[in-house]
Amino acid sequence: MGVTQQFYDLVENVCRDLYIQSLKEIPPDVIAAIRRAAERETKEVGRRIFSHYLQSIDLGRTQNMIVCQDTGIPIYWVDIGGNLEINGARLTEAIVKGTERATREHPLRSSIVSPLGRKNRQTSTGERIPVIHYDFVPDSDELNILFMPKGSGSENMSFLKMLVPADGVAGIKRFVLEQVVGAGAKPCPPTIVGVGIGGSSDLCMSLAKKATTRPLGSKNPDPELAAMEEELLGAINQTGIGPQGLGGDTTALAVHIESAWTHITCNPVAVNLQCWRAERRRAKIWPDGRTELGF
Ligand code: SF4
Repeated sequence: MGVTQQFYDLVENVCRDLYIQSLKEIPPDVIAAIRRAAERETKEVGRRIFSHYLQSIDLGRTQNMIVCQDTGIPIYWVDIGGNLEINGARLTEAIVKGTERATREHPLRSSIVSPLGRKNRQTSTGERIPVIHYDFVPDSDELNILFMPKGSGSENMSFLKMLVPADGVAGIKRFVLEQVVGAGAKPCPPTIVGVGIGGSSDLCMSLAKKATTRPLGSKNPDPELAAMEEELLGAINQTGIGPQGLGGDTTALAVHIESAWTHITCNPVAVNLQCWRAERRRAKIWPDGRTELGF
């Protein structure tokens, strides 16, 4: 199924909207998890932090304000339906333009700089930014876009270790717990703890990041990994780090694990933390111009 220029224009507009809306509207599953954590919280300071979070969420929605000042690193996961005849270069161009327009037209703070000279184009774009991951879905005529503006407080809390097979499952669990405890208040807890297990070093880290985008309440379909998610969450919430690291019962809202097969002599594990605001937005686009926005 071929697409026209209007399709690329639509992708550009949608990417602009995804960026702006994601900063103002927190996903409903995240709001519900924060409400539940606030109700459960037994420490006074923790309850106060949760109440500030809920106020910020409300201001974002009702006053058209961004929930946190950090506009993040723009990251897209784009699933291309196998029936679509798409020009990849034009698709990338549309995504980049949408990102730039969100920054200029809203306007948003551009958080993107060159790594050495710290030069800022004021467009939220630069060399290899936005980050775009492409994948393909057989027998589909949809374009699915998932967007995340990844804040630096949580992104700086990214960790990879190339364990060896002898470290086993115990080594994986130990590594995850050590990183969460070491991160303390820095990723603005309560976090979603994304864990990648297996693959190559780059794939492992990529899985950890993608794991943080899974809706809260979802489990890994593999019962062994689902049990590990639950066990790690229980252990993390016993640390008492709490909201903003000031002490409390909820340090993480969830642990999400994604895995890949790996080399016989490798046992990689990666951790990527997502902060409490856990912003993400999705869009489905069809070649006839229909769009559907969601979380
Ligand atoms: S880590 Fe998240 S909540 Fe904290 S400052 Fe960054 S974007 Fe905001």
